[in-house]
Amino acid sequence: MELKQPQQSIPIRVPVWLRVLERVLSPAVCLLCRQEPAAEGQICEACQESLPAFGELRCTLCGGNRATLVEVCRQCADAGGFLWFRGVSAFPFQDAIREAIHRYKYRGHTYLAKFFAHSMLRAWQNYGAPACPALLVPVPLHWRREMQRGYNQAALIADFLGREMKIQCLEALRRKRKTVQQAGLSREERIRNLKNAFVLKKNVSVEGRSVLLLDDVLTTGNTLQEASRVLLQAGAAEVNVICIARD
Ligand SMILES: [Zn+2]
Ligand SMILES: [Zn+2]
Repeated sequence: MELKQPQQSIPIRVPVWLRVLERVLSPAVCLLCRQEPAAEGQICEACQESLPAFGELRCTLCGGNRATLVEVCRQCADAGGFLWFRGVSAFPFQDAIREAIHRYKYRGHTYLAKFFAHSMLRAWQNYGAPACPALLVPVPLHWRREMQRGYNQAALIADFLGREMKIQCLEALRRKRKTVQQAGLSREERIRNLKNAFVLKKNVSVEGRSVLLLDDVLTTGNTLQEASRVLLQAGAAEVNVICIARD
């Protein structure tokens, strides 16, 4: 990320209340920690240094690290193939990113959506080619879970990302059943748990369109696989995937 010089801070003579006021009024704070000053739309240096990163060689299905001579990583090869064409993740699911995603999903830190969207845009620009999606679709939550949380974390990011990529954002899918949390289930149980979990919403068409499916974390890929299946069955020309992080 390109980091500009932080804004000039107020000299030490200025009373504390004025510094507090400046901080409250100043919009140019870090997108990630919301504490330190940073140029508009950027993150501070400390946060920048704390971010985990993948190497240059990326798996074309999940966006994670891969070996030199193969297109896909070991995990994706072992999963036995996915229905989507290209998959990109902005970060490994580790350290500061793991913590930020937790704050974003479970502690209401929704301001992080903008930081995630920026990071996903950059990752897509670097690794998304040759896919050229025309429609951005967030993975839905079951309505009851969305009501408990107050928001769908994927939809909030899709809203920012759609605008930055200048493509239409559409909540095309609905989660039919309230699936149990995937963590702790075996591979077979996970697949069964998600079977028929998604359906295309009424009066929505994805026919002939290249879709970019958005989720927060790609772990086994089962959720994205089921959502991809529904979109392709509904006539989508192609499905691609973008995530904040690859676990
Ligand atoms: Zn920061
Ligand atoms: Zn992979």
